[in-house]
Amino acid sequence: MKKSYFFQCINVSCGATYPASQKLYRCPSCSDLLDLDYAFSDLDPEQLKVTFRERRTSNLPLDVSGVWRFREMLPFEPQDLKYAVTLGEGNTPLIEAPRSAEYAGIKHLTIKHLGWNPSGSFKDYGMTSAICQARKLGSKVVACASTGNTSASMAAYCARTDLKPVVFIPEGQIAYGKLSQTLDYGALTIQLEGDFDVAMGLVEDLSSETDLYLMNSINPFRLEGQKTVMYGLFEQLDWKIPDRIVVPGGNLGNSSSYGKALIEMKELGFIDKVPRITIIQAAGASPLYKTLVSSSSELVPVEDAFTLASAIKIGHPISWKKAVRALNFTDGWCDVVTEQEIADSKAVLGRDGIGCEPASATTVAGLKKLIETAERIPDVTIDPDEDIVAILTGHQLKDPDYTVNYHLNNLYEEATYNTVLISKSGKLESTFANQPMKVAADKKEILRILGL
Ligand SMILES: *Cc1c(COP(=O)(O)O)cnc(C)c1O
Repeated sequence: MKKSYFFQCINVSCGATYPASQKLYRCPSCSDLLDLDYAFSDLDPEQLKVTFRERRTSNLPLDVSGVWRFREMLPFEPQDLKYAVTLGEGNTPLIEAPRSAEYAGIKHLTIKHLGWNPSGSFKDYGMTSAICQARKLGSKVVACASTGNTSASMAAYCARTDLKPVVFIPEGQIAYGKLSQTLDYGALTIQLEGDFDVAMGLVEDLSSETDLYLMNSINPFRLEGQKTVMYGLFEQLDWKIPDRIVVPGGNLGNSSSYGKALIEMKELGFIDKVPRITIIQAAGASPLYKTLVSSSSELVPVEDAFTLASAIKIGHPISWKKAVRALNFTDGWCDVVTEQEIADSKAVLGRDGIGCEPASATTVAGLKKLIETAERIPDVTIDPDEDIVAILTGHQLKDPDYTVNYHLNNLYEEATYNTVLISKSGKLESTFANQPMKVAADKKEILRILGL
């Protein structure tokens, strides 16, 4: 098999191409987003499926990686692999979630838990490939804006190289689990006044004006690594393709990469059938949803985006056009869920023994809503018998404050702290609270409580 690859502007009326060896994030001619596109010759999908699977019996680090195992589909040559850094990312499990399925009103639900990655979120899939490109380009300093998980992942990979990581995070708006990782892994951590969208604009400017190499998902090398989520998923399903894949939407890089993977897999003959992508956003941070329902050809941004699911608290998603492409190609849809629906769905997932961070729980909340109200949108159909895979994006322990507050019946949409709580509003119901009990250290009393 031979392949070549290059940057391709996603704007069809521009269509410019550039060598992949350039340091580019946007089309120099029209400023639109770039894809990495490939020209393959003699690609045999059935043979590659065998190769991918055979690597699972190998102990070579790049074969063990659930990203590099699929390296034929990535924009690197064999001689580039010396720049690759792996922490054993990918190969995340599939888990049945019967209680969540029942709650959502569907027959069965399969979870793919990307939170079970080395840094605890799906970001590791794309970070390992972008880090490889950063090293290939000879970068010294890499940077990202982050709601927490991108920075945790970038910092971890950088710690294993001589790349210097700089992260820009919105002050007071990131979950402590994520901040603690970034600090532990040694990243220069810059807390900005302002939200993610402000941080993103700033770091994009800085990287176009300096040598900073930008590691956000606007960088097409990130999305190429994230594509391998789909290869890994379908391999786990023995290439029996599901009907629907549900994924949370924030900056929309993840859903975009799935769409691109599906387009390529269909074109190259890996699959005949294409699952429908369903993107779920939080109601207070739903620019893609607003764009779709208004049939707008421009993004309808959300100023002051709000959700407690901080990973998707984004009002100006960079990859929205690629996400629209993914929805169009897969006959997909985007929907929104409330804070209450997210909180309760997270608790229900917990009862399946599957923890996740709030952003990930939008998937189950979104399925429940689609089942209950599908008829409200023409052309959006969902069948309770479908084969559905929900993508959980982040680990439960990223944001334990949220979980504990829910179970203590103390979760508020707005809470202001100044060492101690000074004000709060927007109380959420703790529908499925599991309150801890305070009990005297007395055997008789405990036996009474246990009913023994
Ligand atoms: C980054 C992130 C998201 C959002 O993914 P996008 O690619 O920005 O849409 C969702 N959940 C978690 C846990 C994340 O870390």
